[in-house]
Amino acid sequence: MMKKTPVFDYLLCVSCGICVQTCPASALGMQKEGKSGKYRNLFPELVTDGCIGCGQCAGACPMEAIRMEERHEG
Ligand code: SF4
Ligand code: SF4
Repeated sequence: MMKKTPVFDYLLCVSCGICVQTCPASALGMQKEGKSGKYRNLFPELVTDGCIGCGQCAGACPMEAIRMEERHEG
């Protein structure tokens, strides 16, 4: 079946964590290591397989850094 899943644009992401707080399935965490300019920072990523594809994270992101893409499952 096809399920939508969030895909992050880390060049737009400002590490605010709103997507993580918004997710009703607690499927996101600020665990991805990366850089903001020359500084180390943490970025959101899927940390469980509990995503229900609701798109609330994408809707809440102030930077429009999340797009929902269909992913083939099973
Ligand atoms: S689509 Fe919904 S369930 Fe999936 S990560 Fe975003 S807010 Fe969480
Ligand atoms: S809400 Fe958007 S800008 Fe904020 S951490 Fe999530 S993806 Fe990044």
